[in-house]
Amino acid sequence: MSQTGTMRSVRYLGPRQEFELRAVAIPEPAAGQVRVRIEACGMCRTELHLRDGLLDLGRRDFAVGHEIAGVIDKLGEGVEAAKLGQRVVVYYYVGCGTCRYCRTGDEQLCPQPPSQPGFSSDGGYAEFMVVRATNCVPVADHVPLDLVAPMGCAGSTAVHAGKMAHIRPGEWVVVHGAGGVGLAILQYAKAAGARTIAIGLGADKLALARELGATEIFDAAAQQDAGGFVAAVTGEGADVVFELVGTSASMSLSTAMLRRRGRLVLVGYTGDNFSVHPVELIMRELQVLASVGSTLQDLYDVVDLVATGAIKPIVDYTLPLERFAEGLAAVEHGTLKGRVVLKPGL
Ligand SMILES: [Zn+2]
Ligand SMILES: [Zn+2]
Repeated sequence: MSQTGTMRSVRYLGPRQEFELRAVAIPEPAAGQVRVRIEACGMCRTELHLRDGLLDLGRRDFAVGHEIAGVIDKLGEGVEAAKLGQRVVVYYYVGCGTCRYCRTGDEQLCPQPPSQPGFSSDGGYAEFMVVRATNCVPVADHVPLDLVAPMGCAGSTAVHAGKMAHIRPGEWVVVHGAGGVGLAILQYAKAAGARTIAIGLGADKLALARELGATEIFDAAAQQDAGGFVAAVTGEGADVVFELVGTSASMSLSTAMLRRRGRLVLVGYTGDNFSVHPVELIMRELQVLASVGSTLQDLYDVVDLVATGAIKPIVDYTLPLERFAEGLAAVEHGTLKGRVVLKPGL
C-alpha cells in the first residue's frame, strides 16, 4: 500500500489521452457498499476503446479496469458481517434498479446506470475500490483470484453471448476470433454440447484453442479461405457464428459462414461498420443478434463453471500495477493468447 490514506490508481482522463498513475484517497464504503482490496484486474480491449475515444460514457478522472477480483476488507452500513474477508469477483454494472431492464436483471441494458466501475466510475486498476455489496460474487477457495479476475468481463461476456445464441447439442459453432472472450465462448459452447471451429491468428493461439476443446481449428495467418473451410467441415454452414473480430471483412465473412436460419452473434467491435445487403439475410432467414456485457447471474454462472473446471481461464502473465502501459501494449498488439492481469500487490 502507498502512504497512509492514499493508494495508487490508473486514471482515465479523457479520450485520446494516455492513462496516468496517480495517488488518490483510499475510498470509504457508503451504506450498502463494500470496499474491495484488489488482488487482480484483467486488462481488456475496452481500455483501449476508452483511450482511443471509441467508447466514451462522458465521465472523466476515474480508475479504469473492470475484470476485478479481490477481498472484501471493509463494510458499509447495513451490509451483513459475513461478507468481510470474502474472496470475490466484481460485477461491473450498477443499474438504476427501477427501470424495466434492471427489474428483470438486465442491468447491462440500464439506460441510466448510476455507475459502471471501469467505464464511468472507479474500477480495478487500483489498490482498492468501493462497490454495491450485491455486485460481489463469491469465489471458491480453490480458485486463484488472478485466474478468475478475467471472468469479470471476458468470461461473463462469453456466457451472456452463449445464452443469447441458445446453443443446442450437436450444433456447429464458429468462434471467429480466438482471444480472451473467444476462448471462453469456445469452452461454453463445448459445455453446451456443440461442435466448435475456432478461427484465429497464429499457431500458438490455435493450439491452445484445440487444447481447450475446439473440434476444428483454422489459422487465418497461415491458411486461406476460412469460409470454404467452414463449409467443408459443416456440410452447409455453421449454426452459430460468434463474431469477435469486428472488422468489416470479418463480419461479412462470418455472415457468409452461416447455414440457412443460422445465428450471427456480434460481440467484438472496432471502428468499422457492419454492412450487408438485406437479401443475404432474407434469402437464408439469418438472425443477427448482438450481445453486450452480462447480467449478474451470468457472472455467477461463469465463476461456477470455472470452479467446476468446465471453463479454464487463460492468463498469459501478471504485471504490477505500475506496468499497466506494458500490459496495454500487449493487448493492443494482439500477441496474447489470453489475458494480462495486473496485480497491485506485486
Ligand atoms: Zn435501470
Ligand atoms: Zn471488458
